[in-house]
Formats: sequence, structure tokens, C-alpha cells
Amino acid sequence: MRKALVIGGSLGGLLAANLLRSIGWQVQVFERVGNDLASRGAGIGTHEELLDVMDRIGINVDASIGVHPESRTCLDRAGKVQHKMPRPRILSSWGRLYRALKDAFPVADYYFDKSLVSFTDDASGVTATFSDGTTAHGDLIIGADGIRSTVRAQILPDAQPLYAGYIAWRGLIPESVLPADLHAEIFSHNMVCYPDGDAMTMYAVPGPDNDVRPGHRAYNWVWYHPVTPEQLAALCTDATGVCHGMAIAPALIRPEVITDMRATARRVIAPQCVQVIDFTAQPFFQAIFDLESPRLYVKHAAILGDAAFVARPHVGMGVTKAALDAESLADALQQCKDIDTALARFSERQQLFGTRVIARARRVGAHLGAQATKPPETWTPEERHQDPVRMMIESGARLRDVPELIELVRANRGGRAERSDTPATVVQG
Ligand SMILES: Cc1cc2nc3c(=O)[nH]c(=O)nc-3n(C[C@H](O)[C@H](O)[C@H](O)COP(=O)(O)OP(=O)(O)OC[C@H]3O[C@@H](n4cnc5c(N)ncnc54)[C@H](O)[C@@H]3O)c2cc1C
Repeated sequence: MRKALVIGGSLGGLLAANLLRSIGWQVQVFERVGNDLASRGAGIGTHEELLDVMDRIGINVDASIGVHPESRTCLDRAGKVQHKMPRPRILSSWGRLYRALKDAFPVADYYFDKSLVSFTDDASGVTATFSDGTTAHGDLIIGADGIRSTVRAQILPDAQPLYAGYIAWRGLIPESVLPADLHAEIFSHNMVCYPDGDAMTMYAVPGPDNDVRPGHRAYNWVWYHPVTPEQLAALCTDATGVCHGMAIAPALIRPEVITDMRATARRVIAPQCVQVIDFTAQPFFQAIFDLESPRLYVKHAAILGDAAFVARPHVGMGVTKAALDAESLADALQQCKDIDTALARFSERQQLFGTRVIARARRVGAHLGAQATKPPETWTPEERHQDPVRMMIESGARLRDVPELIELVRANRGGRAERSDTPATVVQG
């Protein structure tokens, strides 16, 4: 039996691990973090193709997978409704998807507290070495180890994430803390706000323990705000003066950074958004990056998910792309007679797909990216102004609405049927 070592036990790693098992491979997953990852709370916009892949793994994709807002509603800076349109995609949460994928995989083959340091790749196969000095041996190593991938650094050292010039402030609040009037106004809807220079989206997702019962759900928000590289370094500096690079653990964010963020929000986005931010006990932020890899394998090492490509989150494609990468890899390994041919086929398909996803996400975020990185006189028309209707259409689109992506997905998936319905819970106010 052939054996794969999957590095990274988040969504991309678990999608690949489950799919490879389903085609008869022996799979071990190695995750750097020391315990269950299920507490990484954040909303995840899904696409039909992601739910399809979960179905294929054997996960029961029922109504508890997420919530389906009644509309996508755009507020102007003063809080008045500007535009309203249907919101066709299901909104789930990272924890809900992780739980389902983790429960589908054998506990004994998932190793926490295993941080890959390096690997060798020779005629006898691949051997991974971890920071605790242990090793593991297999036929294939799969880097599903995220944007700072150790596997990618070893095989494609020139592929580096580029800071896009803005950050995403994020948070999740329990449904029950929303006052009745605000709840009635926003909870059943995906509310967005696109004043020039900023962008905010907020929507209901499953609550703690993946609860989708009314009263037990959560409201997720993401606010994109321009920040220069110098300002980012200051935001990532903790109370003892240590700068943590371009990311910082939520608990280490200085209280004055949060106070400033709340004050800025009051100046730039709609009051309904500000209220939701104010109800959030511990907001956190992530810098936004673009990452492109020129190919997705070298010898017997492959990369997928955020290890291979990172698209700006406006198009909500990260997890779906990881699922399609994983499916494409499993299909190629099943269809080709040897691993080398399979990896070449996988790389050719998913590299083109990733390139197109990145290009689209860059276009949607062009205005936000230009604010803190380019002088206004050099802005292109796309960078100069953010059209709320275009933003709503582009960021809410399903894969089947984007011709340059769906043509590749259909070709790559070999005509595998697309879902005809979406089993989400409809949010009730
Ligand atoms: C603001 C924001 C909003 C987003 N919204 C959406 C959305 O709505 N929809 C969507 O689909 N996507 C969204 N995304 C993107 C999505 O979160 C990612 O694309 C997705 O989580 C990538 O999964 P992954 O498994 O490839 O990587 P990750 O989730 O980053 O996992 C990598 C794993 O590898 C582990 N690891 C790292 N190094 C090592 C090592 N050396 N050894 C062992 N393990 C290691 C890490 O601990 C981690 O668990 C959003 C992202 C952001 C920033």
C-alpha cells in the first residue's frame, strides 16, 4: 500500500488525507499545534464544490453545515441601505468544517505536536524529520502547512507571500448579545459596507459546538482596512515591545491597539458595523497577502491549499480551492500509473486554477491594496474607486458564475455532477 505524509492538519491537510484514504492510500497527518484546532473561530463562506468534496469523503452535509442569509445588503457609511441582492452561498465556520473532516479521519493516524523541520527525497522514498527528532517515511509528502509552508520553503524557496497593503480585523459574537432591534435589522442578512478606502462584511454562522438553532448561532465580521508595512509592524508589537513579525496572537494585541481600531471604525464604517465590533470581546487581525507558486510539486513533494496559493479573502475561495487541490491530487494519483506522472498532472491543473483565483481576488481587492502602498496619482481606475454593486457581485459569486474558473473546475472534475441544491439552514431573525 502506498503511503502519504501530510504536513499540516487544518482544513487543507484533512481534505487531502481523507481523499487519499478513500482511494486506498495509507495516510499520516502531522500537525505542529499541540492540541485540537477546533477553537480557531472564524466564518467561512463556502462554495457548492467544497460541499461536494465533503460528500465524496462520506461526510453527511446536512442543514447543520451552515446558514443561508436571506439577502446581501449594502449599507452606506451613515448606515442607510444602499443596495440589496440575493446571497446564494452557504456561510459556515472554520470549526464546523474542521470537526466534520477531523471526525472522518482515524484518530490514531493524526499526530499533534509534530512540527516538520525538513525532509529528504531519494530512491527509497521521502523521510520527514520533526522538531522533536522523530522521523516518518512514505512515498509522498504533501505540504498542507499554510502560507508559511516548510515544505514549500524547501522545494520552491523563491515563492514568497507578498503583503497586499491592508489587514482584516475579525471577530465573532454570540447571537444572544445582539439587542433585539439590531438583531432584527442585520442577523438574517449578509450585511456589507464599502465606503471608499474600507470594506466590511458580516454574517451569521453556526455558534459554539456548531449549533445552528435560533438564539445559539454567532455573528461573524471581517473589516478590511489599509495599513502601511510600518504600521503593521507596530500593530504586531506586544506590550513588552517585542515585534512578532507580520502576525500576532490575539491575546498579545495591546489594549490601545484595540481602542484605536474601535475609534477608527466609528469614523469610517456604518454604525451597525461599529456596534457589532463593540460587542466583540477580543477582536483580532490578519494581514492580507498574495502568494503564487510556479508549480505544485518537486520530485515526491506536493503542496496544496494556502501552502501553494493564497488568494485575498474577498472571493471566499481559500477552503474550496484547498478542497479542489486535494481532489485533483487524489484523482491524479488514482488515474496515473506512477506518482511522478500523477504529480505533473495535478500541478498543471491546479497551478492554472490557482493563478486565476489569485488574479480575480487581486482585482476585487485592488482599491484596498492601493490605499496605503501607492501614491494616489499612480492609481489605476480600479484602484481609485470601489463600486459597491460590483463588490457585492464579485465577492458573492458562486464558482459557476465565474466563467474563467468554472471552465477549469468542470474540465478538472471530469464532469462530476454539481450539487443541485444547498442544504443550509435559512437564518430566521
Ligand atoms: C480574513 C480572512 C477571511 C477568510 N474567509 C474565507 C472564506 O470565507 N472562505 C474560504 O474558503 N476561505 C477563507 N479564508 C481563507 C482560509 O482561511 C484559508 O484558505 C484556509 O484556511 C487554508 O487552509 P490550509 O489548510 O491550506 O492552511 P491553514 O489553515 O493555514 O493550515 C496550515 C496548518 O499547517 C500547520 N503547520 C504549519 N507549519 C507546519 C509544520 N512545519 N509542521 C506541521 N504543521 C505545520 C499549521 O499549524 C496549520 O494547522 C479567509 C482568510 C482570511 C485571512
